[in-house]
Amino acid sequence: MLIDSYGRTIEYLRISVTDRCNFKCIYCQSQRPWKQLPPKEILSFEEIEEIVKVSSQLGVKRIRLTGGEPLLRKNIEILVEKLAKIPGIEDLSLTTNGFFLEEKALILKKVGLKRINISLDTLEREKFKKITGKDELNRILRGIEVALEVGFNPVKINVVVIRGFNHEEIIDLAKLTLEKPLEVRFIEFMPLGKNSLWNESKVFYVTEIRKILESFKKLEPVFSVGGGPAKSYKWKGSLGKIGLISPISEHICRYCNRMRITADGKLRPCLFHDFEIDLKAILRKRKGSLREAFKLALKMKPEKGEQNSTIKPMKLIGG
Ligand code: SAM
Ligand code: SF4
Repeated sequence: MLIDSYGRTIEYLRISVTDRCNFKCIYCQSQRPWKQLPPKEILSFEEIEEIVKVSSQLGVKRIRLTGGEPLLRKNIEILVEKLAKIPGIEDLSLTTNGFFLEEKALILKKVGLKRINISLDTLEREKFKKITGKDELNRILRGIEVALEVGFNPVKINVVVIRGFNHEEIIDLAKLTLEKPLEVRFIEFMPLGKNSLWNESKVFYVTEIRKILESFKKLEPVFSVGGGPAKSYKWKGSLGKIGLISPISEHICRYCNRMRITADGKLRPCLFHDFEIDLKAILRKRKGSLREAFKLALKMKPEKGEQNSTIKPMKLIGG
């Protein structure tokens, strides 16, 4: 079992399969320009499989594939199929902007993907364009429908709430849960990658979100699959759920159960700390051991992340 110096059991790995993205979400950009990784620097499917095998022997039970945009990675379903077969991996999920879901949802479900999270910050076409740089709102909405149709359960919708951008849509976005088995999760805007838009006044806090949601209808606490930092609720009578994630206003670090692997194979114990261990070097030079690397990462995992301390945006770390 992977238990860190503060008694937290680490059983969850988030793996970035690419640093590429076809969107330019305003909250996910860095002031500092980053060069795309050369393809040979990105972990191969076989390398990811080897890392997951070792981590599962150490006690990791849950894997999430992310990016960049993970569905941009060619033949991602082959990786999903490989990981789904690894003994000990009980939960395999993916976070996507939804752009390729219409064509990929069915095959991903067939090869063993269990759960899916889709980013959607607005229901207004113009605002969607402003936030992501793409005029593709309808395509993403169709992708969400297809994910439900092929049987993903739950389908979670991630909303980063930014004051003055989309906070006025909180009720409309949450209303998606009234008639569909979706879990709409509102996330406080985090200061990652020295984002030029971020300042404290742009953070719309979970307490405020909750008040707005309660002004529509009282929230009831419920259990949500997947653990993690989200607190889940529902409006009475609705099919879906509402999640609230408060990385800024609460110390969610004490519940942290995860580590991350960047697209170029760095094991990162904390989202808000740029300490990383180079797993790719271990794999390619056959020097050192993955097991020892995980143990070192565990030792180095800080009690608390320091917001504003990372210079990398979410898409490079693997959100
Ligand atoms: N491209 C995929 C997507 O957008 O779902 C996966 C990668 S994206 C980096 C993963 C998640 O990180 C998304 O749900 C996105 O909303 C979230 N994210 C990115 N930057 C963020 C920030 N500054 N604060 C809060 N969440 C952020
Ligand atoms: Fe791309 Fe996801 Fe970042 Fe948006 S949040 S820019 S879709 S990686």
